[in-house]
Amino acid sequence: MRCQRCRGDAAVEIRRHHAAFCGDHFIEFFDRQVQRAIEDERMFTRDDRVLVAVSGGKDSLALWDVLRRLGYAATGLYINLGIGGYSDESHRKTVAYAGAHGADLLVADIPREFGMSVEELARATRRVSCSACGLSKRYLFNRVAIDHGFTVVATGHNLDDEAAVLLGNLLHWQTDYLARQSPVLPSTHPTLARKVKPLYRIAEREAAAYAIIRGIDYIVDECPNSVGAKSLLYKEALNLLEQASPGAKQSLYWGFLERGRALLATQDAVTLRACVHCGQPTTAEVCAFCRMTERAAERMRVQRLRGAAAPAVAAPIGAAGAPDSGGAG
Ligand code: AMP
Ligand code: ZN
Ligand code: ZN
Repeated sequence: MRCQRCRGDAAVEIRRHHAAFCGDHFIEFFDRQVQRAIEDERMFTRDDRVLVAVSGGKDSLALWDVLRRLGYAATGLYINLGIGGYSDESHRKTVAYAGAHGADLLVADIPREFGMSVEELARATRRVSCSACGLSKRYLFNRVAIDHGFTVVATGHNLDDEAAVLLGNLLHWQTDYLARQSPVLPSTHPTLARKVKPLYRIAEREAAAYAIIRGIDYIVDECPNSVGAKSLLYKEALNLLEQASPGAKQSLYWGFLERGRALLATQDAVTLRACVHCGQPTTAEVCAFCRMTERAAERMRVQRLRGAAAPAVAAPIGAAGAPDSGGAG
């Protein structure tokens, strides 16, 4: 197969675009897709300071790399979630990238700051791990951004991620999540940073190809807690469709952005106020994250008082509170 630009040997085939590229021209293609995402959705400009949430995986490292190459002021943020060897390894990969490229990196540490890993937070509040983890990440992305004067937080969610979330939301007709599913979530409060997903035009295998061609070393393992997650099932289903019908994922998600989203947009904007405990924006008096950490700390205290035996009291599952929590998957 030949590169459609230079007729050299193709390194990456992109069936949904009927295209194939050599390494250099693939990078050019990738840059164009990301630039187009940023401009089409008005994500940010070169005057904005962008905080890139970096997990050490291919997507977020590729995102950090491409934004810096395209001339954006992109600082990394790594969050230690305390998930054993997985967190250690993802931290190492992120620090290695920052060191090799002279990129600025901020680190937040959940066990150090809150005395518990996200898994312990989940157990103590009877949540599933991914829910406590997602809530913690969203909370810290925003808090670190606001504390350090960033107006935008970028995550490495790609086309496969967004199409899988969309499929999940459609399967259950989660109309409130559907109405808010977008590559850009605007800031609706002075202490709420804009959230953007500049890789929404990039498929997962393209992000992997980018990382390999650019020589970026990333963590290959998935989070051990994601085993059996519904989002993986939706991704598999979409991959089957994509195989038989190249372009299916893109047609589902981009079609939703072009036509579905406007039909679902609701007018009832939620009113945000400052959490009385931490000051972060929330719809409730105390934000969902503070409620989780406070409940977990209380439960740990009770456990310690009673000895090691786990008490049989179930903590109620938190209601809505984080303004941007959500979407299936
Ligand atoms: P995930 O929810 O694990 O699929 O990750 C989605 C995106 O969230 C990644 O592409 C990153 O941008 C961000 N992210 C996930 N885990 C971390 C972490 N530990 N620290 C910083 N950002 C993260
Ligand atoms: Zn070429
Ligand atoms: Zn709070």
